[in-house]
Amino acid sequence: MEKRFVYADNAATTAPLPEVIEEMMPYLKEKWGNPSSIHSKGNEAKKALNAYREKIALLLDCEKDEIYFTSCGTEADNHAIRGAALANASKGKHIITTKVEHPAVLKTCRSLEKEGFEVTYLDVDGDGRVSAQAVEGAIREDTILVSVMYANNEIGTIMPIKEIAGVCRAHGVLCMTDAVQAVGSVPISIRELGVDMLTASGHKIHAPKGIGLLYIKKGKKVGNLIDGGGQERGRRGGTENLPYIAAFAKALEIAVSRLPDMARVEKMRNRLIDELLKIPYSRLNGSRKHRLPGNANISFEFIEGESILLLMDMAGICCSTGSACSSNSLDPSHVLLAIGLPHEVAHGSVRLTLSHENTEEDVDYIIENLKNTVERLRAMSPLYEKYRI
Ligand code: PLP
Repeated sequence: MEKRFVYADNAATTAPLPEVIEEMMPYLKEKWGNPSSIHSKGNEAKKALNAYREKIALLLDCEKDEIYFTSCGTEADNHAIRGAALANASKGKHIITTKVEHPAVLKTCRSLEKEGFEVTYLDVDGDGRVSAQAVEGAIREDTILVSVMYANNEIGTIMPIKEIAGVCRAHGVLCMTDAVQAVGSVPISIRELGVDMLTASGHKIHAPKGIGLLYIKKGKKVGNLIDGGGQERGRRGGTENLPYIAAFAKALEIAVSRLPDMARVEKMRNRLIDELLKIPYSRLNGSRKHRLPGNANISFEFIEGESILLLMDMAGICCSTGSACSSNSLDPSHVLLAIGLPHEVAHGSVRLTLSHENTEEDVDYIIENLKNTVERLRAMSPLYEKYRI
């Protein structure tokens, strides 16, 4: 098969779309005013900012005054959790989350523990899911916040967020969901979901890196993370990044319009999984049923994910082992350990994440190269050798 370039790491980041880049250009070239200035140049920018906020609110099904722009998903997660914890500390200091959250959530919780908060990290089942009943079982008198991700960035498992939000509502506890991997990949109506806070990030949906958002339901008490000049209705200081907000709104509009095409992405992904599982001693990580349409995460026993990744890269294929954020660490993925994988199997895992940009030919190319790569590495693996004797 002729060598080609295949990008299959869309959970790490996505290629900015030409239409998205085009949308941001006027705000770099002509409409570069500060939305807070009260002259015409400022008004022009403010009008655009309002329009983009309104567009995003419409696409996510919430009020425009409930959207706060941030610099990234990580900032939005920090803001939601730290802001909610500090603003509600007089009611209690107990937070509930799961063991499979992104570090943006887990590390914020860890740092709050050092400040006197108590955090329950819920176990997940073998598919990486937590049930609404498990959340309810962990709620105490002093619980103020539940934070459960919408979809996992490593294994693609989708959580029952609507049910979890219902349980939180019944107990008067704030419900936050990190929807960074889900927004744009699955249909989302915040109103129907019933959460109090939700986070998203532009670069996961073909906008540039450096723009995120936090939804806070009207009337909910959430403190600030970044104080400053009163932007974002006093909730997030810093002059608004209008070019990137324009890009985010356009990217979200395109993502939502392309949701029907996700069935094609899912079909390609299913073929990828089915073919890769024909390789002996392989297993699928994450739920087959409750899964992001583009995600495939597979473990291959007796070999190292890093070696697979390097050989795949040499063949022109970009994929990852675990999450991009932890790929500079040699520890096995906390998510794979949480679903019960032994260390050595977790180490041999590969995440392939497809988007609308991928084709059936890309999938053929991945399958052929990954089959060859696994065979080649196992031929050199002392572990495999030992196992076969
Ligand atoms: N939350 C999840 C689930 C993610 O996958 C990521 C990024 O990988 C983030 C948060 C952080 O988003 P950002 O890269 O915009 O800071």
